[in-house]
Amino acid sequence: MNKKIFRSSVLVATLVLLSSIVLIMGILFQYFEMQIQNELESEAGYIAYAVENQGAEYISNFTNSNKRITLIASNGAVLADTSADTSELDDHSNREEVVGALKSGKGTSIRYSNTLAEKTVYFALKMNDGNILRVSTTQYTVAAIIMSLIQPMLIVLVIAFVLSFVLSQKISKSIIRPINELDLDNPSNNEPYDELAPLMTKIAKQKKTIERQIKEAEKKQEEFRLITENMKEGFIVVDRQINPLTYNRSALKLLGISKEQAGDMLTTNNDSNLVSAIEKALGGEREKSDLTLGDSHYRLIVNPVLQDDEVIGAVIIIIDVTESLQREQLRREFTSNVSHELKTPLTSISGFAEIMKAGNTPASVVTDFSSSIYDEAQRLINLVNDIIKISELDEKSVQTESEEVDLYTLSADIINRLTPIADRQGITFNLIGESTIVTGTEKILEEMIYNLCDNAIKYNKPDGTIDVILTESNRYMKLTVRDTGIGIPQSEQERVFERFYRVDKSHSKEIGGTGLGLSIVKHAAIYHNAEIELKSTLNIGTSITVIFKK
Ligand code: ADP
Repeated sequence: MNKKIFRSSVLVATLVLLSSIVLIMGILFQYFEMQIQNELESEAGYIAYAVENQGAEYISNFTNSNKRITLIASNGAVLADTSADTSELDDHSNREEVVGALKSGKGTSIRYSNTLAEKTVYFALKMNDGNILRVSTTQYTVAAIIMSLIQPMLIVLVIAFVLSFVLSQKISKSIIRPINELDLDNPSNNEPYDELAPLMTKIAKQKKTIERQIKEAEKKQEEFRLITENMKEGFIVVDRQINPLTYNRSALKLLGISKEQAGDMLTTNNDSNLVSAIEKALGGEREKSDLTLGDSHYRLIVNPVLQDDEVIGAVIIIIDVTESLQREQLRREFTSNVSHELKTPLTSISGFAEIMKAGNTPASVVTDFSSSIYDEAQRLINLVNDIIKISELDEKSVQTESEEVDLYTLSADIINRLTPIADRQGITFNLIGESTIVTGTEKILEEMIYNLCDNAIKYNKPDGTIDVILTESNRYMKLTVRDTGIGIPQSEQERVFERFYRVDKSHSKEIGGTGLGLSIVKHAAIYHNAEIELKSTLNIGTSITVIFKK
């Protein structure tokens, strides 16, 4: 803009200057020509008067004058001339000015030289004696004057050009400065030129619209961010070149990459399934596939992103299916374990029954067999009961309302029930603590404490002790069942909570264990949002603590 104003100013100044020069020169020239003609006319009047009184010789006074005086007879013959010999001059009767003078008393004409550089202005006057007195003078033509003025004109032009250059620069800068200094953040506070007021109003309006649109876009972006960031599933949007455009935290977490690697997350993690799924989606197809990274399993859903029927990228959703696969695996293992656990006592029962069916079994053996069948059947009942309990907890189908349960009273009750069994092995129970109220389901809590105390008896040593300790702080309530039993080897401690896991399978079976007790404890703890802590030293004893958060 600055340049444009500057160029225009220089151009206008130059054009105005040139046309002014031409105009002024034209006017001046016109003026001078008229002056000359008037001068010639008055001079012709005086000379004619003098010639009439003093004779034709009078004109010889003008021999060295810049004017040429010619006396012409009415027939056109030149009688006297200040510049040429009359004998050399031809008939002048057909000269324009002479014709005019003969006709109307006065005649003028202008004749140009061959080079057009000069012109001669003639004025002819008819005298009283019929002769014609002609006065003429030579003058430079406009072209000649212009030619002769070219140099000074050029100097003037250059000076004018330099001046207009400098001034135009200053003017254009002073015009532009207020525009450059416009405070576009507050358009209504500017008023450099009245002409800009509508533009400023428009800018202010547009600014408000843009601000509103930006706010809306930011709000939408924030909504989108909140949704995607709080998604458990990984979310990635890629362009046609498989460059990630946007992604959420879960995507980085699931793919196991840092924020710095995010730019090339899909090439860093060059799992062929992932890349080929994206490529297929970029080809326009919706694609589903599986991805395994380390111990984790993911389901990939890749959708093409279309714009005007053209694929411009792809949206990738990564779902962590590790847990559901593991659960599926556990379910399968559980079914096979259950079948196995049921099969053993059923085979024994069937075997004993088969022998007795033959009819020749002695009465004493029948009693033994019946007692074995009873034991196996009891084991089956225990097993089925435990399976039902664990399935209920697993499916969260225990339809009981939460209530306030006093762990102290509950423990005292369980200890009372188990004391006769403990007594048989000389084991003593100690209940330490005071009334501790938790919110939960009594039936499940009872099952949990019962299993812990039952294990503490089963895996204790003769004449051992069992402490049931209740403690409470402002953050949690703890129930600990501590025994002085055989303990659990360090390497097995993590696994004892698994279903059907037993450290010593035959010993457990011998003492009527199902391998589900601690699994029920674990599920009961999860049900109550509690944590379990196990401490055990081989041959010294085991302490299992359930921590209820307040
Ligand atoms: P079980 O019915 O066999 O007792 P549990 O699930 O209750 O099954 O326990 C799993 C295994 O953990 C047991 O077989 C036993 O080996 C071990 N265990 C559980 N409680 C104790 C304990 N208090 N002391 C030592 N070992 C224990």
